Amino acid sequence: MNEWCELDKKHFIHPTSSIQQQQEKGPKVIMESGEGIYLKDIHGKTYMDAMSSLWNVHIGHGREELAIAAAEQMKTLAFSSAFSTFSHKPGIKLAEKIASLAPENLNAVFFTSGGSESNDTAIKLVHHYWRIQNRPNRRKIIALKRSYHGVAAASTSATGIPEFWDMAGTTIEGFSHAASTYRSNTESAISALREKIEAEGPETVGAFIAEPVQGAGGVLIPPEGYFKEIRNLCDEYGILFVADEVITGFGRTGRMFGIENWNTVPDMITFAKGVTSGYAPLGGVLVSDAIHEVFKLKSKGTLFHGFTYSGHPTAAAVALKNLDIIESEGLVDHSHRMGKKLLKGFKKLKDEINIVGDVRAVGLLGAVELVKNSETNEKFPQDLKVAPRVIEALHERGVICRAVTYEGIDIICFAPPLIINEGQIDELLTKLEESILEVKNDLV
Ligand code: PLP
Repeated sequence: MNEWCELDKKHFIHPTSSIQQQQEKGPKVIMESGEGIYLKDIHGKTYMDAMSSLWNVHIGHGREELAIAAAEQMKTLAFSSAFSTFSHKPGIKLAEKIASLAPENLNAVFFTSGGSESNDTAIKLVHHYWRIQNRPNRRKIIALKRSYHGVAAASTSATGIPEFWDMAGTTIEGFSHAASTYRSNTESAISALREKIEAEGPETVGAFIAEPVQGAGGVLIPPEGYFKEIRNLCDEYGILFVADEVITGFGRTGRMFGIENWNTVPDMITFAKGVTSGYAPLGGVLVSDAIHEVFKLKSKGTLFHGFTYSGHPTAAAVALKNLDIIESEGLVDHSHRMGKKLLKGFKKLKDEINIVGDVRAVGLLGAVELVKNSETNEKFPQDLKVAPRVIEALHERGVICRAVTYEGIDIICFAPPLIINEGQIDELLTKLEESILEVKNDLV
């Protein structure tokens, strides 16, 4: 262990991690293998991966079918370019497959290697769309507070968590953030967005981007009706609506795409994560037929945007097999059913433990808030680190979850693999209850 630990400290700069903590304590855990919803570390300790790692391992770990799909594709054509209209069968098949799964007016895909690239791409496509229609002034992008859209240039600027802007040193001009429905309601959130659009100047706004459920912000689920109002507002001002489905896509919320929970059709959908269940890096942007038509008619010359790995054949073959499994095993409906059970368990915890505040879930995307006073939602003092302590207690019990503590709110997030079964949900709920009680008893 020590050897791995020292090598890690010496050579591995970890993403979204504390370098100080790594240097003082070494890596938190060194994983060795995975099977189903469980991961195993190098000491043989087993963990329930109740976050699907980074909200992405939808079909669970250790699925040999995906390894076989990758190996077969690698033997046939591991890589070939999609630039300059070169094409290949896995890319074509995957674009067709994703179009067939998406809401019916979204049928064309630009591929990337992940979520941040997808959101940067969507924002560039928004600019391109307006520019080729002689509306280059529609450059502004409005997003939501507490949103997370990634860490590339435009996606960092779209992200509504200021800590990420500090790291970038600067944000791109023209991005702004409106309040979401969190601790509010549809009416106030829509009027906040309307005010923002009016203040920016409606003729200068190109798109509104939002996650159907704000994941990294703390699994913030909008009320019924919110996205319908968003669609109406965007239409009223002629603004494009981009749904960031990087977390919510491919069954996570009990529907193929998260936005379908609210019967709303966006103009673009960005996706990544669950499209391959993390077995290979791949993401993309789906655009509506209307936007695609404008591109087909008015986009002249080269589209100066493309990643070496846009449409990577091996990643595409992995995605195709993964989507095949999600469909053939009925994981979207399963996610819906298991999500109901998870939420029922959360509600029971809320009834029984007075520091449990709001609880919520849509499909297998859920959260439990911890508060000093559940009547008033009064927060715990931040230095008590209540949510991180619960995460630590869960870790001790072999469960991996994530704490979100922006703005001093203690939220514990859950996004288990879509294959989780009833018994495993009970196991998760039992360990969650024990962990919350342990921390609660420590507080008094
Ligand atoms: N969008 C959302 C909603 C996300 O949750 C994430 C990552 O967690 C991203 C975009 C960025 O994706 P990636 O880390 O693959 O660049």
